[in-house]
Amino acid sequence: MKLLLVEDEVKLADYLARGLTEEGFVVDVARNGVDGLHLAVEGDYDVVILDRMLPGIDGVAVVTALRSKRSTPVLMLTAMSRVEDRVSGLQSGADDYLPKPFAFSELVARLHALVRRSTTASLATTTMLRLGDLEVDLARRKATREGRRLDLTAKEFTLLTLLLRRQGEVLSRTEIAEQVWDMNFDSETNVVEVAVRRLRSKLDQPFERPMLHTVRGMGYVLDDRRE
Ligand code: CA
Repeated sequence: MKLLLVEDEVKLADYLARGLTEEGFVVDVARNGVDGLHLAVEGDYDVVILDRMLPGIDGVAVVTALRSKRSTPVLMLTAMSRVEDRVSGLQSGADDYLPKPFAFSELVARLHALVRRSTTASLATTTMLRLGDLEVDLARRKATREGRRLDLTAKEFTLLTLLLRRQGEVLSRTEIAEQVWDMNFDSETNVVEVAVRRLRSKLDQPFERPMLHTVRGMGYVLDDRRE
């Protein structure tokens, strides 16, 4: 996970950068609001930690300017913990607010929560997947070909979604087993083969053009141009 830390207190910034790196974040540090804003706009960060009191432009101005360009989640840090300060921080577009001094473990927990929330939100906005005449509506859990509804079980729907998200790519039985059944592949079981056969009978058999192909010795691929 890529994280941008905008903090002018050198000791605090070093301490946080070291701790967050140990927690598995890839950390960039900016020491003032101008550099922080520039990096936040240009870089592809999963989350930004933004100190409120900064030289140059302050944290509220940074987050306000950032919001016109990007929706990267922002956690604002501040020495000011009065209610009205928290409110104005959140109103400016920060997603969360942590008054100093804070426990490092709380900071990490809040960062993970922010990233989780924004990932869920961005997944929810891409609810339609398509390939040729196949359409899958993730929000309504509905799949159609040529406008006709496919009557799929929950596992078949998950399998179809996986293949569709990675269309054109050959997926091994092992990977399918891990992703759809959350289990390690056991060569004794043929659960993947059975599910693929059932899915194929609903997805392909009633239609002229097959999409779900077996690649011998490798796995399966969803592709509408393959013969
Ligand atoms: Ca400061």
